[in-house]
Amino acid sequence: MSAKFDISFEKSAEIAGGYAILLKTKDADTAAGVSAADPSGVVAKAAKIAGFTAKLATALDIVAPEGSAAERIFVIGLGKSADLASFDWLKAGGAAASKIKNTNDVTIFIDAPGVDVTPAQAADFALGMQLRAYGFDTYKTRKSDDDSNGKDGSAVKVRIVTATAKEAAKAFETAQAVANGVNLARDLVNEPANVLGPVEFAAKAKELEKLGVEVEILTETEMTKLGMGALLGVAQGSVRPPRLAIMQWKGGKSGEQPVAFIGKGVVFDTGGISIKPAGGMEDMKGDMGGAAAVTGLMHVLAARKAKANVVGVIGLVENMPDGNAQRPGDIVTSMSGQTIEVINTDAEGRLVLGDAIWYCNDRFKPKFMIDLATLTGAILVALGNIQAGLFSNDDQLSEQLTAAGIETHERLWRMPMGKEYDKMIDSKFADMKNTGGRHAGSITAAHFIKRFVGDTPWAHLDIAGTAMGSPLDEINQSWGSGYGVRLLDQLVRANYES
Ligand code: MN
Ligand code: ZN
Repeated sequence: MSAKFDISFEKSAEIAGGYAILLKTKDADTAAGVSAADPSGVVAKAAKIAGFTAKLATALDIVAPEGSAAERIFVIGLGKSADLASFDWLKAGGAAASKIKNTNDVTIFIDAPGVDVTPAQAADFALGMQLRAYGFDTYKTRKSDDDSNGKDGSAVKVRIVTATAKEAAKAFETAQAVANGVNLARDLVNEPANVLGPVEFAAKAKELEKLGVEVEILTETEMTKLGMGALLGVAQGSVRPPRLAIMQWKGGKSGEQPVAFIGKGVVFDTGGISIKPAGGMEDMKGDMGGAAAVTGLMHVLAARKAKANVVGVIGLVENMPDGNAQRPGDIVTSMSGQTIEVINTDAEGRLVLGDAIWYCNDRFKPKFMIDLATLTGAILVALGNIQAGLFSNDDQLSEQLTAAGIETHERLWRMPMGKEYDKMIDSKFADMKNTGGRHAGSITAAHFIKRFVGDTPWAHLDIAGTAMGSPLDEINQSWGSGYGVRLLDQLVRANYES
């Protein structure tokens, strides 16, 4: 991380130099903290001259007003108080964070007049700051000044002033867990494939043991014994062996059925023998975005001690062209016993997921399974980088996911499924083939996965457009977005904690 905020909450605070950040809605004519930061009344005058209307996540910048204890004042807009949604607090926090440069001391007055700021909202504001502060500069040997918020790259001391400081600090412990989980997922996606292979990724999952997660790592030999011919077929072209990581968080009642999340973890996808064109192929280091989201989610749930039993399973492989790589036309036998004709070796994610999902269902009998995968280019054609595709055999689960998507702004759009689409993956030579052709490519991919879920409620999230390269915004300036972590944390929090 290239910028750090050391955040605390206080009931009241004196400004002693540094930045003062004041929050203001559209409807109130004054901002929080004005009396402390602006005894001479410059803010109101400056707002008028600059035409600042306190639109959500906009900022008014005032340098060193006469008589102020602050060196610089920012007013951050919250929009109309009646319109304030929970995600808006993250946005406002992100907008505030983006203005902090070259100072080590920031006082933020968050109790905007006309708003009853709850501890959760104050914590969300701080979460927005932490998410905005993330940057991936591990491999830059020369850091630019722009990369850091604090002077000389050191942490910025941020005091958030709010009436319910104690409760906000408590809520922030949870928010901090979320920030760390999202940023872990971002790190994993941004990390290059020469550094993060299947074995290295599995080691990252293993690190969750520190938080109380039980982690098992299956090797190639163990997966061979289990008959995971679909997953292993993808891995066989790489000199780096595959892994299956199984993470269990047991925060719920003992013996209660878990909920399960399964992630596609193709650490690099060349397409295999059906090799991809060179242009943009470097982005395929992010083809493990599903596995990254599941790992980040497990981090959040354990770090905030979620009262739920949760299983995370990630299939980790590399898809390479090689003398030993699988060929188009090959037929593999999955752990389920179903056979698959490999038409296109670039449709490899579903092969990995088929075995991982079957294993998860067979072993854990979960309440539901949700898989995340950077699965198809076709989902980008349909939804762009804006929403993820949602495919499901269960209306209730779909509705819960859609609601969590609106709440967290990690949005989903439900796509159709049906037996006409399912038929498109019937094979001449095996039980199914791994691609149904160009038309309805995301849907037939979902149907392929569905053939491994049995009767368990299930949802598949195609995150090829949202896990990486999505438009940068107030809370994300990173190529690897961490999409899915906040979404699924919210799903668990709202519906599955006892
Ligand atoms: Mn592929
Ligand atoms: Zn792939």
